[in-house]
Amino acid sequence: MTKPIIVIGAGIIGVSTALWLQRAGRRVILMDRSKPGMGASYGNAGLIAQWAVVPVNTPSLWKDAPKYLLNPNSPLFLKWTHLPKMLPWIAKFMSNANRVDADRMVNALIPLLTDAVDQHKSLVRGTRLEHWISNSKFSYSYPTYADFEHDAFGWDMKARAGFTPTILTGNQVQDAEPILGHATGCLAVLEGQGHITNPAGYITELAAHFIENGGEFIQSEVKDFIKSKGRITSVETSQTSIPCMHAVITAGIWSKDLMRKLNLKVPLETERGYHVIYKNPSQMPNDPIMITKGKFAVNPMDMGLRCAGTVELGDHHTGPSQQPIALLKRYAAEFFPTLKYSETEDWLGFRPSTPDSVPLIGEIGNSGIYAGFGHQHIGLTAGPKTGRLLAQMITGKTPNIDLKPYTPARYLR
Ligand SMILES: Cc1cc2nc3c(=O)[nH]c(=O)nc-3n(C[C@H](O)[C@H](O)[C@H](O)COP(=O)(O)OP(=O)(O)OC[C@H]3O[C@@H](n4cnc5c(N)ncnc54)[C@H](O)[C@@H]3O)c2cc1C
Repeated sequence: MTKPIIVIGAGIIGVSTALWLQRAGRRVILMDRSKPGMGASYGNAGLIAQWAVVPVNTPSLWKDAPKYLLNPNSPLFLKWTHLPKMLPWIAKFMSNANRVDADRMVNALIPLLTDAVDQHKSLVRGTRLEHWISNSKFSYSYPTYADFEHDAFGWDMKARAGFTPTILTGNQVQDAEPILGHATGCLAVLEGQGHITNPAGYITELAAHFIENGGEFIQSEVKDFIKSKGRITSVETSQTSIPCMHAVITAGIWSKDLMRKLNLKVPLETERGYHVIYKNPSQMPNDPIMITKGKFAVNPMDMGLRCAGTVELGDHHTGPSQQPIALLKRYAAEFFPTLKYSETEDWLGFRPSTPDSVPLIGEIGNSGIYAGFGHQHIGLTAGPKTGRLLAQMITGKTPNIDLKPYTPARYLR
């Protein structure tokens, strides 16, 4: 039997990669220490965010970050105890917050994101999973039209990617989205978008589909890699050694730990993010909305109304902080003033982020080991395309986009 390709990590990136490799006729083993879809992919906002080409580290961050960190009502938090460890990453992240690097980052993100709804549809075409991709609009809620105008840099970048909004003001806002109270004075609406109504359910079914079609899933933690003459020969768990042709690291934030096993130190840190679910809500928005004041998205989901977002710079070992959850709840009360619900549930997830907000996609040297991680705020969106690109690289096909911006080599000198 031919040796398999082992995909490590069954979040959206790993599951998509496993499926595209399987479709290319390869024998694939998907591994995860948990069940599929339990990492960052579990509780995200569910947006297929084709327009999200603007990274957090744009030039205005120099002016905004200090203000944000000192203001308890701002959606940027820092776990101060983790600051010394995170400082080198923050320094690199901030060094990219200039006009030239912003252009570079946006240009790298555009090919990964702008056809994402089609990429998700392509991943599920002809399967019983087609129902997971909901077509929708997506709106940005601003307190006033002046706040929308203040966001001109971001909208210029989105226009470059082909996304220009229709602007609603005054009563048009509540006519379009009755859940919004008068805290929203301006709505910038993008047509032709998409979302997922239960990201964990979607990934669970993608993994089940992979298994039904002959793929193997092993629930076990990968501990190490064995190489011979610089090439991967097997993947190690605490119980066994699994020979393989190639390995793909799609382990989200934990990819950093696996890269250390290869004696490589990647600058990967987490932008911790939170969700609050309002169960049995009396109202739902018609389509997902970004509440710009709180930097969170609200999505009408199967399990209730999910508000997900905020950024807390910190570690991926400690549990949730209360301030971001309280902030989500405060802004939800302000922006959905007539919402009633039976109870709330909250969650913390770890976005895997690089200092240039661009993921690592490609072979690590000539090792037969591939990187597919670092998708910060856009992993659900870019998962299917990343998986397709990795499968093309591994099977010797030439992807139709320039892969240089994503090369792992940029961080592994
Ligand atoms: C609050 C919040 C909202 C978000 N909203 C959106 C959104 O609306 N749209 C969007 O596109 N993105 C969004 N994101 C970002 C998105 O969720 C992530 O970019 C994406 O989930 C990353 O996927 P992944 O497959 O790389 O990692 P993960 O989903 O974290 O999966 C990694 C997997 O690897 C496994 N693993 C780790 N180490 C090992 C090991 N040694 N052995 C075996 N298995 C291992 C883990 O168990 C885990 O299952 C959001 C994130 C957050 C936190």
